[in-house]
Amino acid sequence: MPPLVPLTDHIWLYPRDPNPERIQPNVGIIVAGRQTILVDAGNSPRIARRILLALDEIHAPPVSAVIYTHHHWDHVFGGMVFDAPAVAHEICRKHLAEMAAKPWSQAYIQEEIMRAPAREQGLRGMARAVDDWRSFRIALPEITLSKTLRLYGDGLTIEIEHIGGQHAPDSLIVRVLEARVMFVADAYYPPPPHQGRPDDTLDHKMIERLAGENMELYIDGHGDPLGLEEFRRLAVE
Ligand SMILES: [Zn+2]
Repeated sequence: MPPLVPLTDHIWLYPRDPNPERIQPNVGIIVAGRQTILVDAGNSPRIARRILLALDEIHAPPVSAVIYTHHHWDHVFGGMVFDAPAVAHEICRKHLAEMAAKPWSQAYIQEEIMRAPAREQGLRGMARAVDDWRSFRIALPEITLSKTLRLYGDGLTIEIEHIGGQHAPDSLIVRVLEARVMFVADAYYPPPPHQGRPDDTLDHKMIERLAGENMELYIDGHGDPLGLEEFRRLAVE
């Protein structure tokens, strides 16, 4: 279990798995008074249980909300473990309701690989991440937003905003305003491989716009936390 990475007095990171085959993104942890708010749920019940253990170690208060930044499996499949409502965009809920109706099992995943070979890498990651499909379920968002939603606790304002973009139409960003920290998740990434083209790039315009907010830290889905200048440089890569 990787140790939590402290980012500020109130914010930690359960860091991504650096092995790209594992497809385990960063999970943000915001301790706001009597509650802990998560940004994404981990890619599986196994990772989510590790997150709970890590929260115990820092004596974090109970998880009160899990924000799904978008509907991609690696950000939501841990959701069933948390005894707290998930918060997401309305489009995310719609996608997840469709995904929840599938007959999840190793056999189903094999069939999907045959049916859609372009998704093989993601599906193999999914098969590796989830070790018990019989008890698995997708925890649907109980709270949805279409534009913005703010959560408050212990002097912190957690602002959730729909940003959309080329990676996923339901992408949200999460700002912790007082800490000047922004969770961007995958919003500025290219579309997923099976939906994109070889010449897809990062969304440079989105990066420029978000860099214009002069946050101190930008945390995306699958990279290391970036300071403002490092983040700004992504706009010209
Ligand atoms: Zn994604």
